[in-house]
Amino acid sequence: MSISENIARVQGQIAQATTQANRTLGSVALLAVSKTKPVEAIEEAIEAGLRAFGENYVQEGVSKIIHFESRGVALQWHFIGPLQSNKTRLVAEHFDWVESVEREKIAQRLSEQRPAGMAPINVLIQVNISQEGSKSGVAVDEVLPLAEKIATLPNLTLRGLMAIPEPGKGDEAFAQMQALFNQLKAALPECAIDTLSMGMTDDMAQAIAHGSTQVRIGTAIFGARQYNKN
Ligand SMILES: *Cc1c(COP(=O)(O)O)cnc(C)c1O
Repeated sequence: MSISENIARVQGQIAQATTQANRTLGSVALLAVSKTKPVEAIEEAIEAGLRAFGENYVQEGVSKIIHFESRGVALQWHFIGPLQSNKTRLVAEHFDWVESVEREKIAQRLSEQRPAGMAPINVLIQVNISQEGSKSGVAVDEVLPLAEKIATLPNLTLRGLMAIPEPGKGDEAFAQMQALFNQLKAALPECAIDTLSMGMTDDMAQAIAHGSTQVRIGTAIFGARQYNKN
């Protein structure tokens, strides 16, 4: 199947899951995860109408961003991978969103390094939910303190939360994330918190049933990846 056929199928699945959850059609955004895929694949997705893309690796993502910028194509780029402090500057200079913020130091650097004249970076806090074996993401009880800190940084806009639950633990983890998202909105009413990023190729319907506002889909759009550094 072609990328455009895959996108049509995924959009249909998102619409169906949204309706089944008694939610408003259009309330779940599709982020196309293009990591490891060439610009030609992204071009096909653009032709099919997609504008928001997720990348995990800084250099790879930045070179794709520059490729499309030089051709005058306006896209929205989300950084969704692990971020070390020596890579924050490149991310701050090129990406529109960072979904994987898990440390105050990283948030501070992103804010300091955002070039003047660019819009603030939209930020999600990555939460370590049901991931005993993984060090990615902050613990549930550290979310609010980190959120309060991010809310004070001038060049960041806190938009919400992101999580990657362990396969098979989706339902419970997604329910916990939904509760945490509601707590965060209540705790920081002055922030524009509107994004709960959860759900990937294998669990997007479950995530939508638990309030996801953005699914991050790679494999179901672009096919299997040749390599996966994660
Ligand atoms: C790779 C990746 C995805 C996409 O996963 P698929 O299972 O291919 O849909 C989503 N989110 C993050 C953070 C990823 O690293």
